Amino acid sequence: AAGGGYVGRFAPSPTGPLHAGSMVAALASWLDARAHGGRWLVRIEDVDTPRCIPGADLEILRQLAACGLHPDAPPVWQSRRGDLYARALDTLHAAGLAYGCRCTRREIALALAAAGHDRSRHGELVYPGTCRPGGAQPVPWAEARAVRLLTVQPDGADVCIDWTDDRLGPQHQNVTREVGDFVLRRADGLWAYQLAVVVDDAAQGITHVVRGEDLADNTPRQLWLQRCLGLPTPRYRHTPLVLDAHGEKLSKQTGAAAIDPARPLAVLRAAAQALDLVVPAGDDVDQFLRAAVPRWTIRCQV
Ligand code: GLU
Repeated sequence: AAGGGYVGRFAPSPTGPLHAGSMVAALASWLDARAHGGRWLVRIEDVDTPRCIPGADLEILRQLAACGLHPDAPPVWQSRRGDLYARALDTLHAAGLAYGCRCTRREIALALAAAGHDRSRHGELVYPGTCRPGGAQPVPWAEARAVRLLTVQPDGADVCIDWTDDRLGPQHQNVTREVGDFVLRRADGLWAYQLAVVVDDAAQGITHVVRGEDLADNTPRQLWLQRCLGLPTPRYRHTPLVLDAHGEKLSKQTGAAAIDPARPLAVLRAAAQALDLVVPAGDDVDQFLRAAVPRWTIRCQV
């Protein structure tokens, strides 16, 4: 349980207020930090500006505060950290690991169909490598629209990532085959989540990432990016998803209701229940949270 060096974080995208599902990740990341005697940070992931809702960032911070979840340092906004991402992109380009791409989605789909391939099992298009350096149509860096990360080992082998999730156990992904060269900077000029999250987790000294299970299959991409940039790899724990009455993941896209900041104890109790924690009711949020920490420790063998 020791670990003064522990730094955890909650990294919401301000695409709407927190709902019962995102609250589970918030509570779990806070509990894990407290259980380790560590620090807990909040980072607003607002790089995908078309999906962000004005004011949702402040609303999320208010919701967290109402639930007694107070960050140990002022929150940071990714939209103000573009210089860090640009520097990382330059590093990757200088190392020959990032390259410009001017394919449209339609061209990618056509190239894949012509090669008899379809999509990865996640339903995303696996990039066929048209614009790769040394490929059919390499793109001068100055003319890059999107920028992609090369997913091949120096010796030409596939990028196969093995990692152990603290809740899900041993995991494996062939990033080359299942994902392919993924985007770091989008054709519309926006930073991709994968680059921003990896740069910021390292810049903020994050040692433990606790987040929703829907992000588990992004982790191998992030581990590969960390290796390419020479950055340390945190530990990862992916928390259970909250399902709606139809068995679908609760999400802002499917209209999950915002948590009610006027009833923080009920909100915390529901989140704790999703984490399989049995916590006495308590009179206020601080009492509830104090009682939850040792239960998290036992549950997760911290
Ligand atoms: N911003 C991401 C989301 O809200 C989470 C990123 C992360 O925790 O790595 O889905």
